[in-house]
Amino acid sequence: MSRAFLLLPALLIGAHSFHILKKDKSKNHQEITYTAILRATKNICMKADAKFQEPKTLDPKALAKACRKEAFGSNFELGIKMITYHNVMTDLQHASDEEFHFDSERFKDGKQLITSGLKNIEDSIMKNKFDDARERLGQIMHTLQDFYSHSNWIELGYTKPCTALINPDDKLPNLADKATKTCEESSGKTSNGAKLLKSIIEKKILTSGYFGGSKPSGKCSHGGTLDFTTGFGKGADGINKDYDGSSHGKDHNKASEVAIAATVELLDKIWKSVNQADRFFSLVGLQKDTPSGEMKTYIPFIDFKSRYKDANQVNINI
Ligand SMILES: [Zn+2]
Repeated sequence: MSRAFLLLPALLIGAHSFHILKKDKSKNHQEITYTAILRATKNICMKADAKFQEPKTLDPKALAKACRKEAFGSNFELGIKMITYHNVMTDLQHASDEEFHFDSERFKDGKQLITSGLKNIEDSIMKNKFDDARERLGQIMHTLQDFYSHSNWIELGYTKPCTALINPDDKLPNLADKATKTCEESSGKTSNGAKLLKSIIEKKILTSGYFGGSKPSGKCSHGGTLDFTTGFGKGADGINKDYDGSSHGKDHNKASEVAIAATVELLDKIWKSVNQADRFFSLVGLQKDTPSGEMKTYIPFIDFKSRYKDANQVNINI
């Protein structure tokens, strides 16, 4: 692979997602995924065992023990890392595909990725193709999690996940159409990010930030140094909540908490549709056989140091 090929996605990542780098006081995709898998697995163990006792600290080994699967703790850890790896790789492999990150109001396409992915995961599980299921699961988790950072769901005051994203028959609520203006004109002077129009908030209209080279007039930007839709010198004027220092970073904690809850709901839906706890446990690696499939714990980036002094690779380990 050429250097130029790697450099572009590496740079885009810095401004395109709940982060995949470690940021103090912020949750990245790895942490959101890790916490969600543990919470969902705990719920399933609890339902399967009336005597289940919640571990003091929620980590893979302690939870494996509480689920009476103590010998499988390391496999569980590995299964979580594999799913997380594919989540992170979505930012590399689909850096400029807006629908994978719910950028630029691509709500229907983003939802389509999630619901078709769900169907695919359920089929793979029923055929015992757990490697394939883990890969697709990581991908759709990424897209689902980005919704809460890149749309205005949190700014509209919602505190629960948008269930229509994972249910094919439910209609996405109140989407802005192409002509609807959603954000105030960027002044370039604010450090609090772009301002959503009052009418958007009052009517609870759903929008997301545009990312890349240009945007239709009156629409919100994603924001960040590599988002050129804001206009020169106005990089802060976006609505993303990727980390606490981003345009709408003051809402980062709310966004990441709802992203965790949404990921738990996604896992719960998979468990219910495959209709057997053991199938779900195999998906997350909580089983006798070591989970197989592609995985790296570190993904190196050429030239990453230019933007992130202390990081030249993405770390899957939590
Ligand atoms: Zn993303």
